Order: sequence, then structure tokens, then C-alpha cells
Amino acid sequence: MTSAGGGTAQARVKEWPDGERPDRTIPGYRKDFITQYMPPGQLNERVKALHRQFPQLTDVIALPYLTNGYRRHAQAQFGAIVVTSLAYGSEGGNDLAMELVDPGAQGRPLQVTVNGKLITVSLATDASGAITSTAAQVITAVNAGAGSLVKATPYRTDDGQGVVAPAPLTQLSDFLKAPADVSREPARVLALRIGAHRDGSRTGVLAYAQEHAREWVTPLVTIETAERLLRNYARDPATRRLLQRTDIFIVPTVNPDGANYSFYDYNFQRKNMTNHCPAAQADPAARHSWGVDVNRNYAVGSLFDGYVGASANCLSGTYAGPGEHSEPESRNVIWLARTYRNIKFAMNVHSYGGYFMWPPGAYQAAGRLTLPRPTKAQEAYFLRSARTIEEAIAAERGTVTWPQQTGPVTDVLYSAAGNSADELWYDFGIFGWDFEVGNDIWNPATRTWEGVGFQPPFDEGHKEALEYASGLIAMIGLAADYRAP
Ligand SMILES: [Zn+2]
Repeated sequence: MTSAGGGTAQARVKEWPDGERPDRTIPGYRKDFITQYMPPGQLNERVKALHRQFPQLTDVIALPYLTNGYRRHAQAQFGAIVVTSLAYGSEGGNDLAMELVDPGAQGRPLQVTVNGKLITVSLATDASGAITSTAAQVITAVNAGAGSLVKATPYRTDDGQGVVAPAPLTQLSDFLKAPADVSREPARVLALRIGAHRDGSRTGVLAYAQEHAREWVTPLVTIETAERLLRNYARDPATRRLLQRTDIFIVPTVNPDGANYSFYDYNFQRKNMTNHCPAAQADPAARHSWGVDVNRNYAVGSLFDGYVGASANCLSGTYAGPGEHSEPESRNVIWLARTYRNIKFAMNVHSYGGYFMWPPGAYQAAGRLTLPRPTKAQEAYFLRSARTIEEAIAAERGTVTWPQQTGPVTDVLYSAAGNSADELWYDFGIFGWDFEVGNDIWNPATRTWEGVGFQPPFDEGHKEALEYASGLIAMIGLAADYRAP
């Protein structure tokens, strides 16, 4: 190896950092409890089922902040006019319909009549019978005449001066496609607490997944981990030791509304489902871009503090929200840290790309000033721990996490203003890590590394869940051995 400064060093290349492929398979150790990608309803069922089966080793914690829910207001667009129901679609908005009618007579005024769920706009005509109502006039009339049911707004930047065309009766819709058994109510996020002594006396470990809705593998990592811990407790002394010495909090899905949207409506959904956009950005065609990036909504090194890597634009993939902790999803994560002060380790599970990272995770634009670096001793601990965890991942099927993708977020990936691991570290002193599960795969045909994507074929997602569950269990092992300095 040579450095830019001219130095050189030589070492023998070895396949594994310590010379040997790690192999921790214990005879009789049970694993592989995942058979498919799981939407939030199934994840919650699995959490409850594990608690029913292992009541002595678990508690289910209902996190205090309900999400906004898998629901939206119903909408329809009539040229330059967007009509939005006041009620959510599931609460009556989807039953509304509106029509724009040519009265077919001369000299008629603009009139809005409401008949039950039907809104009829009779457009104004001049002396020759031609329609004269502009979009702006119709908007004013609808808001005056049907304002208890809907709100009418101009489409994006339209000035409302164009004359409106008649339109047939059009049903408003929330455009949500999940089956009826997916609740439209605000959702309760669950944590499964695992340990033989769940009284705050043991080192706490938090593993939370799916802040980003489309990252379907990430909840599976946490479920596989919970299953292994509980089902090997009676048969495997090493597992028993982990549960004797640690107090584990597992949140399979932080963002259930977004996850449902990703499963049933728009698989690329990253954010939650709460729409903070003003009317000019809230027409139905923009709906896949609404929502807050939960992992930019935290309170340390945030957009609002001047840090880089989050957006103030409500349509951006990294929209930070209207303020720090504006979203129940982020408040729930911090509530766990605040309530269970024994938590000293946390893993924020994301996909994809094969990264393993820790704070600092953000820098300021001015001077690229990062959040404070951990001390040398802390950095050494982060790095040493990373090697242990990465070796456990590699033991499953030989997946290597590149050294250049192991390190502080700001060094190996980017600045992510307002991310959760930073708040856990700087405000609570929790060793906060981030996985980006799903390492690139070598394609021998093209001789390139290829990303696996957010929703790889299940066979690949399944393998990722198994290997990163091993990594997570290795982190719990570090926690079991941890002694506060
Ligand atoms: Zn993510």
C-alpha cells in the first residue's frame, strides 16, 4: 500500500481480518424463522405471539405516540381545481362526489348545491349561453357552498383565471389500495422487551427498524433476532447468558403507516404518510412524495440547527418535517431512550448497501463542521465492536462489510441531519449504530458490484435477515460484556 504522502506499507493479504473465517455455529442452535416479507400487521402479530409463548422472558410495550394512521383525505381534480375532503377518505371522504354542469341556458349564475354526498356546481353562462365561470370563481363558490365537506384550491401554480370546462360526476378518492383489514386508524407501534431480568438492572439494547418504509428486509432482521434469542434460551448456554445479562428492546417497524403504503400503494415509499404540504403541493399526483423522513426528524444536528442532509421541501425524500420531533414515529424512539435509562446500545437498522456506521452522522454546511467526534477511546470501542459484529455477519454466508464502509456516517457515507443515532449518542450516551443491510453483490458477467435494492427477491432478503440477525446478536453480546468506564 502507498499513501498520498509517499509512505508505503506491506502486509500479506488474508481472506479474513484475523486470518480465519469465523464460524460460530453451535450444534442444535435454532435459526431461520422468516418465511416472507411482512407488513406491519404481521409484524405486530409475531411480536404478540412471541410474548404469548414466552411470557417469562418478554413484555410487549405499547409505545405512547400513535401514528397518524394509514389514511388520507379524499381528492379529485377538475382541470385547474383540486378538491379535498375535510374527512379522511375512510371516514366519509371517499363517498363524496362532485360534478361541474353546463346549465344549457343563457345568463345563468354560478351555483353550488349539496345533496347529501353529491356536490353539483352549475357553471355561470353569458347572454349567448357560453360558460364564463373561472377556476378562481368556482373555488370560491365551492368553499362557500360546500365548505363543510370539502376544500377547493387551485392546482399548483395555476392563476385560476381560465374558464372552467364541465365535468361529469367524479367520486373523490383517498387512492389507498390496502385491503379493508388493514386498519385506517392511527397505529400503535410495539416494542418487544426481551430478557430474564427486565427491571432496568441489566445493560439495555435497543434495535429498531424500518424508519424508512421501503426497507422491507429490516424488520425481518429484528424478528429473526427475537426468535433466536427466545427459542434458543432453553437449549443454548450462550443465548441464556445474553438474556441473563441484557435487557433488549426490539421495535420491528418504527413507521407502520409508511410501511403499509410501501406494501400496498407505492413500493418506493421512504417517509411516513403525514402530509405537511401546502395546497399548492398537495394535489393527488404529488401524493407519493408527501411525508416526513423519520430519520431526519430528530433533534440533534438537525436541519433546524444548520446541519446538512435533510430538506425543508415537503416533497423531498429527506424532508425533515415542520420541526424537530414533529412526528410520533421519532418521538416513540426517543421515548424508549428516555424511559429506559439502562439502554446503552442501539442499532438503527436500514437498507441497503452494506454499511456499518456510528456518530457523528451530520456536519454543518459552514466549514463542514461535524458533530463532536467521540473520544479516541470511544472511537476505538466503536471500531473494535464493529469488527466483532461484522465477523458475525460474515459467518453466515461470507458477506464482507468493506472497511471503507465501516466508520462514522460522515466519513463513510454522507451527512444525515437530524438522524436518530446521533440523538441517542449525544443526548443519551447510547452507543448508536446504523446498519445498512444488503451488501452489494458481484456480477461476474458485467464485472461490477451491484446493489441489491430495497426489496430484493425474497431469497436474497431472507439471507440478509439471517446474516444481520447474527450481527445484531453479536452486538447484544458486546452489551452483555459491557462495563461502563
Ligand atoms: Zn433507511
